[in-house]
Amino acid sequence: MRETSDLTSRLPLKEHLRNMKKMIKTINGLDPWWLVLFAVKNLLAVTEGYLALLLSVYILDSLGRGTAFTEICRVTFGFAGAMFLLANLVHWLQLRCGAKQQSLYVRYHALTEEKMLHMDFARIASPECEILKKRIREDMNWGAGLFTVFDYVDRILGSMWNLTGAVAVGFPVAGILLRAGRPEIWLLLLGAVAVSWVTTRLGIRYMAMFNEILNGDPARYEELPPFLGWLFANGGHFSYQNGKDVRIYGAYGLIRRYALDNYELPEERQERRKLRLYQGKSGFCQVVSGQILEGASYMIVGILALAGLVTIGNVLRYAGCIRNLFQEMDSLAKSIPELFLNVRKHMSTMELLEMENEMYQGSLPLEKRSDGEYRIEFRNVSFRYPGSEQYALKDFSLKMRVGEKLAIVGMNGSGKTTMIKLLCRLYDPDEGAILLNGVDIRKFRQEEYLKLFSVVFQDFKLFSLPLGENVAADCRYDAEKVEKCLRDAGFGERLERMPEGADTYLYKDYEDGVEVSGGEAQKIAIARAVCKDAPFVLLDEPTAALDPLSEYEIYSGFDRIVGDKTAVYISHRLSSCRFCQKIAVFHEGRLVQTGSHEELLADRNGKYRELWEAQAQYYTQG
Ligand code: ADP
Repeated sequence: MRETSDLTSRLPLKEHLRNMKKMIKTINGLDPWWLVLFAVKNLLAVTEGYLALLLSVYILDSLGRGTAFTEICRVTFGFAGAMFLLANLVHWLQLRCGAKQQSLYVRYHALTEEKMLHMDFARIASPECEILKKRIREDMNWGAGLFTVFDYVDRILGSMWNLTGAVAVGFPVAGILLRAGRPEIWLLLLGAVAVSWVTTRLGIRYMAMFNEILNGDPARYEELPPFLGWLFANGGHFSYQNGKDVRIYGAYGLIRRYALDNYELPEERQERRKLRLYQGKSGFCQVVSGQILEGASYMIVGILALAGLVTIGNVLRYAGCIRNLFQEMDSLAKSIPELFLNVRKHMSTMELLEMENEMYQGSLPLEKRSDGEYRIEFRNVSFRYPGSEQYALKDFSLKMRVGEKLAIVGMNGSGKTTMIKLLCRLYDPDEGAILLNGVDIRKFRQEEYLKLFSVVFQDFKLFSLPLGENVAADCRYDAEKVEKCLRDAGFGERLERMPEGADTYLYKDYEDGVEVSGGEAQKIAIARAVCKDAPFVLLDEPTAALDPLSEYEIYSGFDRIVGDKTAVYISHRLSSCRFCQKIAVFHEGRLVQTGSHEELLADRNGKYRELWEAQAQYYTQG
């Protein structure tokens, strides 16, 4: 079941207004003119409508009064000219509004993406944030997301201008009604308003019942049963790659049980039937309510006309105004709750946008050193992942000399990757500190500090973009440098076979994209790390997906690839690390040994020797 706030529960008006304020403030932040543009467009469209009405009134009354034909033509042309201009202007503004909606939609979504990119990593990786992201995804899919909000804002602005126009143009009828002394008119008016009010309320009730079912679990009522989404929808774990596992493990039944079978359950069918029924009833009530009011307004003005109280032309004018008055009030009564409901659907996004980063953000600029003299020290660092009882690293101390090639070995889960994450400030230590040239790394400007590191994470990701852009992590790059990095990382031969060279798109997200193997992807990731040219290179199991020959190429060329940079090289395969001057052995979150391969091996009771001997049974230690 969804963790979403229950949208069917009523919110006090104050809360709705607060939501509206937040939403408008956010969109204004993207473009302060959007509301003005919508308002002007609607004002002009409404003005055009009333000009047409007034023109009809003029023509009818002039004909009745026997005004000269040329005079009628002159005025008609004047009106028609103004209306023509307005119609063109409205059309142009309409197009502008459409374009603005599109661009706001894109920028609004970019806002959340950007927010997530700059959020504390610990926060974004937390279960709470996962739930929030899921809620946002669901809420965005509800209705037409932001476009629905724009649509209702547009309707409401139109209704408000229309109401103003109806009052302004039809104002004299109020005096006529008061002076007419015809009680049947008032009875008719009251009756029509009462019946219309009841049917409108009923329509809104049905709509609320419709929404109530829909909000229970909107995915159930999407046209495509979610089953298909598992295999075909883009991105995330619903990508086509899922198809392999579903086939191999015959997981159809499993997915069916959660998706298609649910969709076909009798009670689900019944719910869907109810949904259609409520939608139909709500639509019917709305039509009836509108027709009652329209009929009543014509009858009222008809009575006045028969009594000789209004001219023929004004019958049209007042009937139109009364009808508009009712219609637009009715429309506001429906649109405002719909807008509130839709805006409420964006509050999960607002929640994300309002999240504050909690990690300390230093302001110290990083000293740019041409000699690359950057020394790192871990001083008694302990760290537990948020929500975890166990220490991933405990009382960890280590100094890294400039230009040193440090290997980190240890069993899975011994804290190796955690050390890299702390070094890159994805998390801050709970105890102790990490120092750069003697200064706590928290004090530096984060983006400047991160420039010091090239990292290939175990779960690195490449982008579905051209190969060269992937390596340079930029759309403009030095092609020669990129190619050299790719060759250094052992991708040279494969590069020759890429149809467009470095311009070839990676992955099948694009029609002519190339699907690279896991090992090839790893080489590209290594090339990206080399290309960044940072003083520290951190490689977390960089050869795990490589074949022995490629692995050998990386090792033997490692010094050349990394040059005089400081390098940290993580591997659970001990034989891969022998070429490093210093090896740090991790065990259960602690640093248990350091030394060269020979020194560590000499310690008969050490962890390194134990691991080495265990692995010797499986690997040929050449
Ligand atoms: P290694 O790289 O040596 O295999 P890690 O540094 O990834 O080990 O993990 C150290 C410990 O921290 C493990 O017990 C692991 O389960 C735990 N751990 C790793 N990542 C997370 C996380 N995001 N949340 C909670 N615990 C984690």
